[in-house]
Amino acid sequence: MEHLSKEQIRTLEERMHARKRQLLEEVHERRERTAVEDAEPNAMLGDAGDESVARMITDLSIQETGRDIEELREIDAALVRIAEGSYGVCESCGGEIDERRLEAQPIAARCITCQAQWEKTHAHKSTPTL
Ligand SMILES: [Zn+2]
Repeated sequence: MEHLSKEQIRTLEERMHARKRQLLEEVHERRERTAVEDAEPNAMLGDAGDESVARMITDLSIQETGRDIEELREIDAALVRIAEGSYGVCESCGGEIDERRLEAQPIAARCITCQAQWEKTHAHKSTPTL
């Protein structure tokens, strides 16, 4: 990662730590909110419509939490790469990841070319095929 200065890496590392704290807080808050809903089942016993809305909200917060946890995992992976000295190197082709790309997305593990390729092959993975 010779194309990145120690200073640049430290700045990105700090940003990722800050983002991590923010995400952990969000996950924690959301979990508390869900826990409150679970603890008051009577509040959920409206008509069927209310119930399904409540369930939808819970599903949504689970989805959001899933995304947050996914991002936390990516941040951790990026921090490990910094510690190992492989940060800023594309994990697919071994090339340097553009520093502007890292500025925009510090957790990026691939260069733009490989990321585009990766998204092409993985984009429809979670969508059921017709
Ligand atoms: Zn690459």
